Amino acid sequence: MWKAQGQFVIKAEVKLFIGGFMNKLFLSLVFAGLSTQASANIGGVGSGGGGAVHVPAATLDQIKSTLPNARRELRQWLYGEETLVRTGRVKSDALNLIFGINQPKGARTVQDVLGDLQIEFHDTTPCYDALGNEDDGSIYTSLPGDAICISGARLTQELRADDYEYQTTALILHEVSHLLGANEAQAVEVQDYAVMGLHLIDFPNSAFNTGRIAVSLQVQEQGLASVVKIAAKKNSLKDKWFNEVAIGRYSAFVTVLDGINVNCDNLKGAPLMSLVNYQDIDEIRMAQEQLMNLYYASNSAWASEYASIFNGKASVNLADFFKGESTSGLGAAAYWPTSGQWADTQMPYIKNVKAWTDEAAAADATFKKIVDHAQAVANEASFTVVEK
Ligand SMILES: [Zn+2]
Repeated sequence: MWKAQGQFVIKAEVKLFIGGFMNKLFLSLVFAGLSTQASANIGGVGSGGGGAVHVPAATLDQIKSTLPNARRELRQWLYGEETLVRTGRVKSDALNLIFGINQPKGARTVQDVLGDLQIEFHDTTPCYDALGNEDDGSIYTSLPGDAICISGARLTQELRADDYEYQTTALILHEVSHLLGANEAQAVEVQDYAVMGLHLIDFPNSAFNTGRIAVSLQVQEQGLASVVKIAAKKNSLKDKWFNEVAIGRYSAFVTVLDGINVNCDNLKGAPLMSLVNYQDIDEIRMAQEQLMNLYYASNSAWASEYASIFNGKASVNLADFFKGESTSGLGAAAYWPTSGQWADTQMPYIKNVKAWTDEAAAADATFKKIVDHAQAVANEASFTVVEK
């Protein structure tokens, strides 16, 4: 049995919570954190919560149009959510199950099933469960292999013009989790988490947004990789080339990250769900910070300020690095929230080219993984939908 999850009113709470903060990136991160934490409270909310505003029912065409692209939307949310689960920020046995965490060796994952999944769409009839009961969705279809049934006929009775995209997409994941062995409670839990994340996606513009971000991130990653490569051939950090290239690349980084977060005052503006979590932003930030570090290290005019940040130590953590930037006269970096793990990260003092290239190459390798996820989302093929 599946029920459309109730329309939730998170927006007012979010606005209150973030009222004092100006940083747009921070807004997006707060959304991500809140949506994760709040999801525990939203499960089981019925669909009958009638508000004062009348929203028309979703049409069959609207629901049908959501299906082909649902794989992209699910993947972009799942990449970020899996990071949150694997780093212990979200604890859920149901999510562990679909991500293959603590599962028997060789167990399939949600990404595996999504890869092959077909959807049997019923225009005028319900889906049926194992006992022949009518339902909105089920894992019983006439299709071979991994397939689920979605009943457009029933969903038009339950969904509205302002929630059908994320509700339909979350229902697909509910059924996919059954294919992975989830019981009903687990499937509902996965669905609840998905609703909390997917409602942030700007569905009509998602293809454009994810494509744009994937390209932007890739350009930055390639830029950093090329700096690392050329740096390996240099003899000294005092080489003039370092100073020029470091600030150029750093500025480009900042521009891209600002662009990613440009619409985060708008709940529907979180442009790439898989990026909207502390962990991934931290990793990108680390790559960017290596360029800032290089810029300082290669600037002889700032040698004493830079040395004062490190104060004779071989390394400083990021929190101290930021503090040092503001007290040394180098200029404070804009405030960025971090995961908390960030401050523990040691940022080695740059004594030579080799030390910098090693550190930057490590940051770039992680950044590359994030770019790969973004590209996988942007290039995702449509689900095959079979109408019955
Ligand atoms: Zn179910």
